[in-house]
Amino acid sequence: DPQLNTHYTFDNFIEGECNRLARSAGFAVANKPGGTSFNPLMLYGDVGLGKTHLAQAIGNEIKKNLSDKLVIYVSCEKFCQQFVDSLKNNTINDFVNFYQAMDVIIMDDVHNFAGKEKTQDIFFHIFNHLHQSGKQIILTSDKPPKDLSGLEERLLSRFKWGLSADIQIPDLETRMAILKKKMYSDGIELPENVVEFVATQIDNSVRELEGAMVSLLAQSTLNKKEIDLNLAKSMLKNFVKNTHKEISMEYIQKLVCEYFEVPVEMVKSKVRKREIVQARQISMYLAKNHTKSSLKTIGNFFGGRDHSTVIYACQTVEDLIETDKKFKTYVQDIQKKLKSS
Ligand code: ADP
Ligand code: MG
Repeated sequence: DPQLNTHYTFDNFIEGECNRLARSAGFAVANKPGGTSFNPLMLYGDVGLGKTHLAQAIGNEIKKNLSDKLVIYVSCEKFCQQFVDSLKNNTINDFVNFYQAMDVIIMDDVHNFAGKEKTQDIFFHIFNHLHQSGKQIILTSDKPPKDLSGLEERLLSRFKWGLSADIQIPDLETRMAILKKKMYSDGIELPENVVEFVATQIDNSVRELEGAMVSLLAQSTLNKKEIDLNLAKSMLKNFVKNTHKEISMEYIQKLVCEYFEVPVEMVKSKVRKREIVQARQISMYLAKNHTKSSLKTIGNFFGGRDHSTVIYACQTVEDLIETDKKFKTYVQDIQKKLKSS
């Protein structure tokens, strides 16, 4: 299948605490597509943590063992585009028949269905058809089904039928193992202390981890220098600088207010309405964690409050993240927007 990328396999997917359930459920599905209760299998987690890799590995494993199975990998975005095209070209039936003929469908990044009602409707029918005929459905998403917004309830309820398994950021040891495996397959040897240094510094995404290693290799070739700790340190300084732009309190305030649909000036005011207080406290919390501003500066910025108010706000937000799942999703959503800007 041209849609499957054969580089993504179980063999080169390093197992860790962070992905154990997802990986083993994926492996079970790969060996018995449609024949387990993991249908659909939904893999979810933040960007760059291996969802696409694992989903593709399942597809490749199925083709390896059961070569006559029809397996399709498609990103949700591409599916939506194909749907629009087929509407335009009057080929809706072909479109639906194509997908309904599959034994396995792997759809990547289903959060991109948000707001696309017509495409969701079509997918709902394809989903039902495949599921009823015992065909395997594999989905990936940046959130668990219960936290996905902009998706129709009946589709979401289908997504919850099987198993949802999360993929988290690997711990240091696993990050080092991933780096080593990658280098090994590229025929490169890195000193242990360099591997450890890079894996310690980059702790948010496997994709960035790989990106850092690629720059390290490039630097070493360009400058004809050996890869050692010094080179790694100087490279990472630039790398981290490039990927983590300065974030201003102004910008945090704007994002938070947009997110909760509250007027910007309210956050700096004395208003004590619940949603305003919430926006204000989250803004302070994000300012503390994503800017270099002192508590005093933060308090000043958000309406001339003192540093103890900022401490209290941060504590409140941290407590709510622990106890209130919805709240946690809000904060994570905003954080994602902050980082991707
Ligand atoms: P996502 O789809 O979640 O954004 P990807 O599947 O694209 O993430 O993974 C990003 C990169 O990290 C890919 O090159 C992938 O091969 C690699 N990667 C992620 N997790 C692992 C892992 N556990 N073992 C090996 N490589 C991994
Ligand atoms: Mg992906």
